[in-house]
Amino acid sequence: MNDERPHILLIEDEIHLARGICFNLEHEGFRVSHEESGEDALHRFGYDRFSLIILDIMLPGIDGFKVCREIRKQDARVPILILSARSEEGDRITGLGAGADDYLMKPFNLEEFLLRVKGMLRRSSWYRPEPVEEGYRFGDNEVFLLSYRARTAQGEIDLTELEVKMLAFFFRNKDKTVTRAALLENVWGYSSDTETRTLDNFLVRLRKYFEPDPANPRYFQTVRGVGYRFTRGDR
Ligand code: CA
Repeated sequence: MNDERPHILLIEDEIHLARGICFNLEHEGFRVSHEESGEDALHRFGYDRFSLIILDIMLPGIDGFKVCREIRKQDARVPILILSARSEEGDRITGLGAGADDYLMKPFNLEEFLLRVKGMLRRSSWYRPEPVEEGYRFGDNEVFLLSYRARTAQGEIDLTELEVKMLAFFFRNKDKTVTRAALLENVWGYSSDTETRTLDNFLVRLRKYFEPDPANPRYFQTVRGVGYRFTRGDR
């Protein structure tokens, strides 16, 4: 029988927490596979297909950051949600730098957790790749939103789900100042002041990809105290 339910991979070594997460996700109609170590998860990832990865950072062998990087090498698109018990801001930034799309701190509220999972799955289903596509050009860059690719001065790169979503939002609002709240709302589907570091981290990534001089951005400009503005730099 063909199982159409979204398949979620949970990588978590705390058994009680893992059981609770599995129970609740299954209750919501998802199919969940659980691995207790990064090594087992990567082995599993080699032959199984997933719609979403939920990844704990503190694991017995290789840590979640390493797992995240390895998964990203094999799959640029699968959404990755990191769970961490550590409150350090550095963890969030390391996680996003490793290619994760979102970050949730333990202990978390079950409702918020489920909302994020559903939001990430919904967004990933909006962006099904299509065969032929004309890229969006600015400067030396060409971005293919539907196929999650971009050609940049540094070569061809794969884009993640949230990068694509953020780029699409910037392109739609070309030359307009977009507030942080609007970006969070439109890209992540929720708005919260505590998430602004997540947003800033994504901007750092986009500038690294697309700006000739990331420290002096031409395309993705900061509008101090308000948010950001994308321009094609062709005026
Ligand atoms: Ca753990």
